[in-house]
Amino acid sequence: MRKTVITANWKMNKSLVEASDFFRLLADFLAAQDTGNVEIIVCPPYPYLFLARESAVRAGFKIGAQNVSDRENGAFTGEISAAMLDSLHCDYCIIGHSERRTFYHETNILINRKLKALLQYGIKPIVCVGETLEQREEGHARDIVLKQLQVCFNEIIMTPDIVIAYEPVWAIGTGRTATPQQAQEIHALIREWLQDYNPDTAPEISVLYGGSISPENIGDLLQQPDIDGGLIGGASLDILKFKRMIITALDPGLN
Ligand code: PEP
Repeated sequence: MRKTVITANWKMNKSLVEASDFFRLLADFLAAQDTGNVEIIVCPPYPYLFLARESAVRAGFKIGAQNVSDRENGAFTGEISAAMLDSLHCDYCIIGHSERRTFYHETNILINRKLKALLQYGIKPIVCVGETLEQREEGHARDIVLKQLQVCFNEIIMTPDIVIAYEPVWAIGTGRTATPQQAQEIHALIREWLQDYNPDTAPEISVLYGGSISPENIGDLLQQPDIDGGLIGGASLDILKFKRMIITALDPGLN
């Protein structure tokens, strides 16, 4: 049975003190919860990963990076390798986020190389795909997502450790969430694609939705049959909102 996955993507936010407070409050909250089949992941900026580890081990949540280099090591100023993330016992890493694609011109081919680097070190990838508003309005949303999947997963052996996040670019940080039906349509497409790719692992792979998730809308999204969790940006910065979204995900009616 695949997991429900609730992931916080902090992007470039919070001071060390704020991060430390969040980890402590989250650990205190989770210590009193049975999280069952729900995996909780926090992806802070790199400098806070080591600090997050201690609370994560205490409370059973997982930590993730927001990016990784495709290179092994060497003269690549400012880059962080998969080996370094592995040495921090980092569980997950987001790759292919639309902000990386837009602002740093990351391509599907580069994301494929990053995916290979992560898998080589046993770090679980959260691979983001999703169309822009223009592509959706031109009726190309399905084709774009399929193309991203084909190139990003070229020569990849699918394992249940892989997580895919469908994040329509027009919904990220805009307050404009995809309707549960719009999201479900693309999630069903991704599930079909996974089924064709490898029928054995397809049912085990969690496919998350991301794009202006909030405590108010997460319940309706998680009720969709092919939405297995959320990749949450803005609303994950607030511990109270994040706890509310975890409580919704833990609702046995949704699992
Ligand atoms: C994200 O960062 O992946 C994201 C979906 O952001 P937000 O929830 O703020 O739209």
